[in-house]
Amino acid sequence: MRFDVVIIGGGLSGLVSGIRLQEAGLRCVVVSTGQSELHYSSGSLDLLSHLPDGTPVTDPVEAIDHLEEDHPYRRIGKLRFEHYAEEIPQMLYRCNILVQDALLENRYRITPTGQMKPSWLPFADFQLFDDPHQLPWKKALLLNFEGFTDFYVQPIAEAFLSRGVQCHTDVIVLPAVEKLRQSLTELASVNVAGVFEYTGQIDELVAIVNPMSADYDVVVMPAVFGLTSSASYQYLRSRMQRELCLVPTMPPSVPGLRTQRQLRERFCRLGGTLLTGDTVQRAVLNGSHVEGIFTANQGEVELTATNFILATGSFFSHGLVTHDDEVREPVFGVDVHQKGHTGFGVKTDAQFHPMVGGQVIHNLYAIGSVLPGFDPTREGCSGGVALLTAFAVSNRIINQTVES
Ligand SMILES: Cc1cc2nc3c(=O)[nH]c(=O)nc-3n(C[C@H](O)[C@H](O)[C@H](O)COP(=O)(O)OP(=O)(O)OC[C@H]3O[C@@H](n4cnc5c(N)ncnc54)[C@H](O)[C@@H]3O)c2cc1C
Repeated sequence: MRFDVVIIGGGLSGLVSGIRLQEAGLRCVVVSTGQSELHYSSGSLDLLSHLPDGTPVTDPVEAIDHLEEDHPYRRIGKLRFEHYAEEIPQMLYRCNILVQDALLENRYRITPTGQMKPSWLPFADFQLFDDPHQLPWKKALLLNFEGFTDFYVQPIAEAFLSRGVQCHTDVIVLPAVEKLRQSLTELASVNVAGVFEYTGQIDELVAIVNPMSADYDVVVMPAVFGLTSSASYQYLRSRMQRELCLVPTMPPSVPGLRTQRQLRERFCRLGGTLLTGDTVQRAVLNGSHVEGIFTANQGEVELTATNFILATGSFFSHGLVTHDDEVREPVFGVDVHQKGHTGFGVKTDAQFHPMVGGQVIHNLYAIGSVLPGFDPTREGCSGGVALLTAFAVSNRIINQTVES
């Protein structure tokens, strides 16, 4: 099977890249084993919250100059960084992924433990705040579903109280959610969200919550609304008599799962080929050129293309593996790099071409979490790295195609 581009990995970076390429008229296939980090992403796509030395970042564009030279953002360059960061929210809207107002600066969102996290693009389920030390309410009603253990109201209540908000906690007992309690494993955020895909169940919820909320400014609930689209939480918000503040649950993340689904749908609607539940097992390299790849399900059918994109994530998604005390990239066997706190990743040149034995592979690119040069936890930039490297590489391929 022949494509313009074969993309290995269907997480945030692989799918965004596939969408960008399909929108430009290129024929792509995305091969993806399974779950991606989006399933765990708690509530936003973040550009850059801190510098490597821990300095908080307000203006990510200005902060780029302070990153190390091999940081993916430095390789993209300031002008392109700014341009892509403005374009990305537009693409997300085309995928029906609603995000908060896309300013090129960090504001704050609430984490699963009630803390304030600097954020760039929170999903529209969540509020953004200008001041991390203040909340705009005096009295909050914190609600959880009886027995739902992926949402902890106590730390949220403490964090709210430290910001001057009085809290009352209570539980909601709703028959449809109670049914899930018959088996502990069923009472997971995804299944609770499944209950609220129907407006009838939201009406029942609202009939319980509205009378409880009369004395409060805001009702806080777990973000378990909108598995397939944003319709559920929008409907819920429209029926509430008080302001609604949704707070992310522990993983899996309902907004993250919804985002993955919406990206996949957009890619397929654009005519892209999606091979999910399939794993790329080996590649055929001819000198500095990839000729094709073979997957577990396609057997001896080779997938060939002009360009290949490695978007297989880090250890978490098996984009990198440890073998005999050595870290390896398992599909192409490309060189792996480690530098201090920025961890392991696939070594590339400035255009994100990986290498084998120091030799650049000209029609192969690496994007997203498989790259080195950044510290996702310390710098709060991993969603942004996935999105911006996907844009950088896709645009390069599109420009090459136009020129040739
Ligand atoms: C708990 C948690 C919370 C997070 N919270 C945030 C947050 O608040 N803000 C933020 O910006 N970012 C956050 N992130 C990070 C963000 O979600 C990731 O940076 C981003 O989703 C990475 O996307 P990716 O496409 O590079 O990799 P991945 O999401 O890892 O996707 C890689 C995909 O490749 C597939 N794959 C691997 N090997 C193969 C193979 N051989 N063949 C076929 N497919 C293969 C995998 O199955 C997977 O689907 C969080 C991550 C985690 C784990």
